Amino acid sequence: MNGMIAMAYLLSAVMFILSLGGLSSHETARRGNLYGMVGMTVAIIATIAGVATGALWMVAVAMVVGASIGLALARRVAMTQMPQMVALLHSFVGLAAVLIGWGGFLDPQVTLRGAAHVVHSTEIYLGVFIGAITLTGSLVAFCKLQGLVSGKPLTLPARHWLNLTAILACIVLGIGFVPAEVSTGTLINLLLMTAIALLLGIHLVAAIGGADMPVVISMLNSYSGWAAAATGFMLGNDLLIVVGALVGSSGAILSYIMCRGMNRSFISVILGGFGSEGGVVSDDEVEGEVVSISQQDLADDLKVAEKIIIVPGFGMAVAHAQQAVSDLTDRLRKMGKTVRFGIHPVAGRLPGHMNVLLAEANVPYDIVLEMDEINPDFPSTDLVLVIGANDTVNPDAVEKPGSPIAGMPVLEVWKADKVVVLKRSMASGYAGVANPLFYKENARMLFGDAKDSLQGVLGKINS
Ligand code: NDP
Repeated sequence: MNGMIAMAYLLSAVMFILSLGGLSSHETARRGNLYGMVGMTVAIIATIAGVATGALWMVAVAMVVGASIGLALARRVAMTQMPQMVALLHSFVGLAAVLIGWGGFLDPQVTLRGAAHVVHSTEIYLGVFIGAITLTGSLVAFCKLQGLVSGKPLTLPARHWLNLTAILACIVLGIGFVPAEVSTGTLINLLLMTAIALLLGIHLVAAIGGADMPVVISMLNSYSGWAAAATGFMLGNDLLIVVGALVGSSGAILSYIMCRGMNRSFISVILGGFGSEGGVVSDDEVEGEVVSISQQDLADDLKVAEKIIIVPGFGMAVAHAQQAVSDLTDRLRKMGKTVRFGIHPVAGRLPGHMNVLLAEANVPYDIVLEMDEINPDFPSTDLVLVIGANDTVNPDAVEKPGSPIAGMPVLEVWKADKVVVLKRSMASGYAGVANPLFYKENARMLFGDAKDSLQGVLGKINS
């Protein structure tokens, strides 16, 4: 039996690796997801078979209840709410690690001595520490993304010292906890460390401001992986260790890539509270005049433009405008125009959000370019359509050092001959900062829901 379970674990570990490989490109993403699902099914069956000792009905009830809640939530959640959902799921991983750690500590049947005790209590201590940070950090991220608390960074005085003190306190408590026999003393150490780690998780994420949240989400993804790996050590489950390490390291790599995309330092993300020194730019600080444009005028502009770049953002997802974007692109290409897309690494609310939506609407992959590839081409472009993007096209990021988004590379759409921004109002984007792009001389605003506007423009081109 044990041999079969080991084989099943090996199979699911391979499936998970193939899944990660598949998810690295659009063409293979579906297959990647399928590998992941097969791997997880095999893992669940093998794990239950390995531990089942009679109370199987309890496992079945827990699974039916859990799966029903998961299914209902996943069906109801809109694509634009995925980051919150992911943050909430990460918090469950953290909670599981904390509970399993505490369960392991309180288990009266575990009577290890010597080196075995040190190893076991180290696993418990690390598992609870990482789990508690992941739990509260993810809950704060959820609240920020859901708009339940302000997205503004909480910048307490001497916050880095606070973090450092908290970590040092946990190390000192750990030195007392790990080698000692289970007693009231070690109970207090674990209790204190859990409380400090819970507060640390809140503080680390509360200190991060609006536009930097994507990095935090991938960072918490990584933490949840390490929490799962720690749980694997506590339970002596090899597959959980492998899967946790896969999630932990791939999340860390994604965070690193996003940090590079956002021009942020990886270390300052881990320590919390970066990019939050500047003040918020208010609308009245922006000079210039906002000029709106009609659907007919935009249709006329598109008819004469030769080189067109489309820059989608979160608003395209809100408006479900991807199909309308695809239809317009198709029409313009049939008219002989060069149409390409410029995608910012943090456009939307998920890494790859725009790519997924455009792929769903069958926009050809070869005209969808990354920011670095397309940025040099804006000066030689006739017309840029900004569809529901805001922070990712904000010139202040490169032109105004004091701005909260200063230093973040953006799509330099204002360098084109003309830019038309499709959005409903003058409202700011996720980072809550005003956008001087809308006031530039070569910029025009087409106000309204992006899908309605695009369908209207296409109708005018066709008529
Ligand atoms: P933004 O959030 O900056 O702006 C989106 C714009 O879309 C808004 O200004 C809004 O203006 C407009 N909009 C909303 N609904 C509609 C609609 N129905 N039709 C037309 N426009 C609409 O989007 P970006 O994609 O430019 O930037 C993403 C931001 O989100 C960045 O700050 C990023 O850091 C952050 N973020 C990204 C994550 C990721 O992983 N990608 C995760 C978490 C945060 P109006 O209301 O006037 O219509």
